[in-house]
Amino acid sequence: MKSHDIQHWITTTDPRALGNLYRRADDCRRRFVGDAVHLRGLLNFANICRRNCWYCGLRAERTDLPRYRMSQADILTCARRVEQLGYGTIVLQSGEDHSMDPVWIGEIVRRIKGETGLAVTLSLGERHPLELEVWKRAGADRYLLKFETSNHDLYCRYHPALAGFGGNRLGILAWLRDLGYEIGTGFMVGLPGQTPADLRRDLEMLDMLQPDMIGVGPFIPHPATPLARILADMPARPIDQVPASTGMTLTVLALVRLLCPTANIPATTALGTVDPAYGYESGLTCGANVIMPDVTPRAYREKYEIYPRPLPPSEEDGEADHRRLMDRIRSLGRSVGRGPGAAVSFGHHRGEKNHETSRA
Ligand code: SAH
Ligand code: SF4
Repeated sequence: MKSHDIQHWITTTDPRALGNLYRRADDCRRRFVGDAVHLRGLLNFANICRRNCWYCGLRAERTDLPRYRMSQADILTCARRVEQLGYGTIVLQSGEDHSMDPVWIGEIVRRIKGETGLAVTLSLGERHPLELEVWKRAGADRYLLKFETSNHDLYCRYHPALAGFGGNRLGILAWLRDLGYEIGTGFMVGLPGQTPADLRRDLEMLDMLQPDMIGVGPFIPHPATPLARILADMPARPIDQVPASTGMTLTVLALVRLLCPTANIPATTALGTVDPAYGYESGLTCGANVIMPDVTPRAYREKYEIYPRPLPPSEEDGEADHRRLMDRIRSLGRSVGRGPGAAVSFGHHRGEKNHETSRA
């Protein structure tokens, strides 16, 4: 797809044309990755973070937020539950917590791989190449690290660098790929200051990287962050500001599918948060083939508030949520994916055949 076509799609408001785009993306999804919806259990196991991203509710300067890190035993209990639920992957996500011993993480990965049949995805922020290597050797399969925005000025402002730490996310992604990880990346839609030209460049960045997994979700302001305060002080939305809307996110999802046909693309939690009734369904019919249900124990969920989102009233309702999710997937005529659900593209970068996907 050419630059001006991408620009056209992200600025068009014609519902008929957009409907056609969504159908094309849905056909492309069916053709390249099939009807299975892969489920990844998302475990937010620690909220300690040393960074101060302007968009995120976990930023280090928030001293009012109680911090936690789950024990190995609790993480393993969650992993077993993820397997019982029939999901093929656990995603271990946390703040960028450098007080966490990398060997400890390696042990968790090794135990999950030894005691369950799950694929393990890590999302622990910017880490040293040696740590990434230790975790790969322990058995980690995938790593998520979003570039957040391709606009260098916005990125540097909203993602302040740490003294003595380069913070080169694209460099880390290249390193991860060399180590044999499936790599995941993406960006936020509607970040304050993001213009349609920025969004086009975000999409072109994905086209260039051809990641195995791609996460794009709407920006959701958290009241305890600088970005929410800036937004509150703005009298009106600037004319060239990309909206952080469901519609814009769906258009972006559809374009992502057309640009990266074989990638695993979730209907993100952020999309499910801005549109609780239909966010997942809309995402799944505009190109997505993955959902990442939150399996974090209730006691920790309210402390892992990257952006505000409703909590389930009780653990029992978590079970009910799971059954409802299965029904929602099946009501779209889609099946629930089995097995780890590696990206169809994975291995192609390294000239290997992807056995997992052909089994799933
Ligand atoms: N600390 C790790 C992983 C946890 S943050 C990291 O930063 O990579 C996971 C993702 O949440 C981020 O990549 C970002 O894209 C998203 N996120 C953070 N704040 C958000 C907000 N206010 N609205 C929407 N997404 C947000
Ligand atoms: Fe920390 Fe990630 Fe939030 Fe940035 S986005 S403050 S690195 S948890």
